[in-house]
Amino acid sequence: MIKVVKFGGSSLASSKQFQKVGDIIRADRSRRFVVPSAPGKRTKTDDKVTDLLYRCYDAVESGQPYGKIFQTIQDRYNSIIEGLGLNLNLDFEFKKIEENFNAKAGRHYAASRGEYLNGIIMANYLGYEFIDAADVIFFDENGNFDSEKTNEELAERLSTMDNAVIPGFYGSLPDGSIHTFSRGGSDITGSIVARAVRADVYENWTDVSGFLVTDPRIVEDPLPIDTITYRELRELSYMGASVLHEDAIFPVRKEGIPIHIMNTNRPQDPGTLIVENTCRKPHYTITGIAGKKGFCSITTEKAMMNAEIGYGRKVLSVFEDLGLSFEHIPSGIDTMTVFIHQDEFVNKEQQVISGIHRAVHPDSIELESDLALIAVVGRGMKSARGTAGRIFSALAHARVNVKMIDQGSSELNIIIGVRNEDFETAVKAIYDIFISASI
Ligand code: ASP
Repeated sequence: MIKVVKFGGSSLASSKQFQKVGDIIRADRSRRFVVPSAPGKRTKTDDKVTDLLYRCYDAVESGQPYGKIFQTIQDRYNSIIEGLGLNLNLDFEFKKIEENFNAKAGRHYAASRGEYLNGIIMANYLGYEFIDAADVIFFDENGNFDSEKTNEELAERLSTMDNAVIPGFYGSLPDGSIHTFSRGGSDITGSIVARAVRADVYENWTDVSGFLVTDPRIVEDPLPIDTITYRELRELSYMGASVLHEDAIFPVRKEGIPIHIMNTNRPQDPGTLIVENTCRKPHYTITGIAGKKGFCSITTEKAMMNAEIGYGRKVLSVFEDLGLSFEHIPSGIDTMTVFIHQDEFVNKEQQVISGIHRAVHPDSIELESDLALIAVVGRGMKSARGTAGRIFSALAHARVNVKMIDQGSSELNIIIGVRNEDFETAVKAIYDIFISASI
């Protein structure tokens, strides 16, 4: 059995957190490959080391004093080393980093040092071998992740090792310079390592006990989700639910490796298992509810539109030509509506209107702004009758006006459009009808 374990920033924010991580790793010999993030926040008002590194580098680059912030970064690492009682001194590394900052090594390099240094500490603490991610994670010259080259070389490198620490978040470009994933990217590294070693499971340790059915800022104490499929997760994360980096599912998905989200502070909790597929019956018809505010809709109406071949394509090409991507397109007999992100749309609004007039000569074009979209997601919906009906009646009871409803053909999700101000009420009502009412 091989497990790849990734620990997030809050799990590695202090020596006390490192000790919890050490206990977790030592409790199971199959936890052989470890991917650490940089130290995160110890308290709500604390700084993440990654943010400090960006700030420090920006100061160096713009000729501002940077000594204090660089010292704060060093202190963060030194206090971890001291707290763990390690025989390790990073002064040489700090010196090299300062030199490279002054030589303008770039923001990617700067940010990556958070994981790099934490990886060295972790390897020393566990007695595992340290592998610099720059040697095994590759990007192409445009900064796109090179998955096949990485998988080949990483698999080869790790095949003879019992265990190793591979820092998250970064790799290298063909010219050898450092390149990072987008923020939160250590999740991706963990997934890449899991694929390369053909792990049985990719454990992603964080500070929550898995995914919750919905946002705890909207519903008090929502239930955790015990099992979720990749596809359900994708729908929920796209709609704003965040625990894991969106791109982290792709490498493991290729190999059908499950991801287990676990809580470093409560390792006894079951967490959430993300799987390719499962015949475990979901407890509830829905798996999760997520949503986002800030959409607008553009509705075109034209008598006999349904008979006009190419109408939809012509309308959508207006959006395409303006570089706008759409979210949903519910349509009626003589109407077609396009949902789009409001902040992208505002500056191009008039071009869209004139473009549509030119393209299809509609009878009217109507705009509506400040809309929210809610995704109700669940593999259980396929076999349950009346899901849409239950959503509608719950929303009617809560006096929420439904502006749009769109059921994906996978029957995995139902998307509902409501006004921004009804968003929270709507999410609560849906949660209550499917979850609270069935507990
Ligand atoms: N340290 C990086 C960040 O703060 C990457 C990560 O933690 O996954 O975004």
